Amino acid sequence: MTYHPPFRDMRFALHEVLDTASVLSSAGIEIDRDTIDGVLEGAGEICARVIAPLNGPGDVQGVRRDDEGVHTPDGFQEAYERYVAGGWPSVDADEHHGGGGLPLVVGSLIKEMLASANPSWALYTSLSAGVYRCINANADEELKQAFLPNLASGRWTGTMCLTEPHCGTDLGLLTTRAVPRGDGAYRISGTKIFITSGDHDLTDNIVHLVLARTPDAPAGTRGISLFAVPKRRITDDGEPGPANGVHCDGLESKMGLHGSATCVLRFDDAVGHLVGEESRGLAAMFVMMNGARLGTGVMALGVAETAGQAALAFSRERLQSRAPGSLHDPAQPADPIIDQPDVRRMLLTQQAWVGGSRLFLYWLSLQTDLRREATDLGVRVQADDLLSLLTPVAKAFVSDRAVEVSSLAMQVLGGAGYITDNGVEQSLRDARILPIYEGTNGVQAHDLLARKVIGDGGRRMKQLLEMVSQFTDRIAGTPELAPFGTALSTLTEQIRELNTELIAGAEQDELRVGTSAVDYLDLVGHYLIAWFWAQAAETVVTLGDAATAYHERQLALAHFYIDKMLPTTAALVLRARSSTAVLMNPAAIAG
Ligand SMILES: Cc1cc2nc3c(=O)[nH]c(=O)nc-3n(C[C@H](O)[C@H](O)[C@H](O)COP(=O)(O)OP(=O)(O)OC[C@H]3O[C@@H](n4cnc5c(N)ncnc54)[C@H](O)[C@@H]3O)c2cc1C
Repeated sequence: MTYHPPFRDMRFALHEVLDTASVLSSAGIEIDRDTIDGVLEGAGEICARVIAPLNGPGDVQGVRRDDEGVHTPDGFQEAYERYVAGGWPSVDADEHHGGGGLPLVVGSLIKEMLASANPSWALYTSLSAGVYRCINANADEELKQAFLPNLASGRWTGTMCLTEPHCGTDLGLLTTRAVPRGDGAYRISGTKIFITSGDHDLTDNIVHLVLARTPDAPAGTRGISLFAVPKRRITDDGEPGPANGVHCDGLESKMGLHGSATCVLRFDDAVGHLVGEESRGLAAMFVMMNGARLGTGVMALGVAETAGQAALAFSRERLQSRAPGSLHDPAQPADPIIDQPDVRRMLLTQQAWVGGSRLFLYWLSLQTDLRREATDLGVRVQADDLLSLLTPVAKAFVSDRAVEVSSLAMQVLGGAGYITDNGVEQSLRDARILPIYEGTNGVQAHDLLARKVIGDGGRRMKQLLEMVSQFTDRIAGTPELAPFGTALSTLTEQIRELNTELIAGAEQDELRVGTSAVDYLDLVGHYLIAWFWAQAAETVVTLGDAATAYHERQLALAHFYIDKMLPTTAALVLRARSSTAVLMNPAAIAG
């Protein structure tokens, strides 16, 4: 499957709708449009020409393990060397660790294109950025110096080691042990499963971030600490030394992401270095997990983009049946399926999800820059509020959409989509993990409703509703935008009422959150996508006569979203209110 970086769409989102450079500049972060575009084009080039061609073959060949270790598919190593030589891993890392110091939103653009080009390959780089950030935020200076420059440059990669055979969602059950050695370091022992990039042949060292329990730690999540455990110990001169008791005991055989090494790792008295404080490991790891959850949303966007491109290209070529009325071409034996209303429904649905998600995710990535660097404290606090509130939506809503978009791509291709040659079945297989890892989407929904909304009495959600209300007030005088204003105002009121009901309901009924959470998250996801499409529509309408055919297409997509997709929210509101007894009725399913 070929991949064409959607530069025009990315620029529309970044520059025309979100005005990224100005937003950053007003917060004291200087970067101009040309610099952003330069990164976009450079990264797009290596993604399209070097990394994307390895996607299909890497899926067929997969990873393999022998006595020497784990081997990535042919070409992955060379592509990685070129990626590192181009300085791409370090674009948004801190300058004093050898990074480029560019805003994190720029890093998100690169992640999106990597995921579009080759999701398996992308995973070798994406977790490293999270490990970099986690160590940077939590570790002491000595540890930072030992690991960060090599992680920033891409010379080493990183992993996150949470999951164990008996513990996935419930990390309080984990049993990996960390015993002090008496010299400040710890001996780590235990088995972790499903570890992405746990072993491979791309770099000469791997930094594992491992959650483990010290000997007298309390039970549950409060007793968990975080350790940096290199695959090879670091010598006094900072180079990889002898092996460190980290063994890859197996590779998981899985549905998709065949080029990504998902490993069973056994830690056998491996030397580990405490990151942050003892028993505060989960909080430290959340720096990485929150970034990884937003990153999963971005990866989902990337996967959906490629599937959408394949469906669109196929629908233009495939001649089948007669198109309705005026689209009919008598010179052809049949018309392209792109002219069939139902095929258009599928294509437009894909494009509305991809375009709307792109706006949402770029905007949320921008908040990570504002939170980190804005000169104004109020801006930093608001960005932090928005990120904590909406990261679960970015992860869950967009990953569910990626599965939907990939599945629609298969539907557009018909039988050809189910056949492996055309690549969209790979997209669907690769996308299917996104709603599962980095905390399942059910868990994200619970996090949103229980912790982020009910947990603060609806304060952060109220802020979001207020932002949208200010927007609808602003567009109220523009007749062309009336459908957007009406739809958003109605939803704002519905969500406001629902918040009050759910906050009160959760106090009276412990099943309320579990009953309503997934529908609530979907509702908020739709609301956000509607808000961003409305902003896109405003951008186009404001252009007036200067609007091009490209802009008119964006406006048409915005209308499609509001008319054809947003009405789903009426059902979601009802479902979020449904009785808790219906789900828990033992007559329906016995426990
Ligand atoms: C390809 C792949 C790569 C991965 N990479 C990594 C990695 O790099 N590092 C790592 O540590 N892990 C990794 N994982 C593990 C992944 O994060 C877990 O699979 C995921 O967190 C879910 O845990 P679980 O599989 O144990 O499912 P379980 O926790 O057993 O959950 C099973 C089902 O029960 C539901 N459930 C469980 N508890 C609750 C609850 N309290 N409320 C509502 N529903 C609940 C879940 O939503 C899910 O539907 C990877 C997994 C895969 C398949």
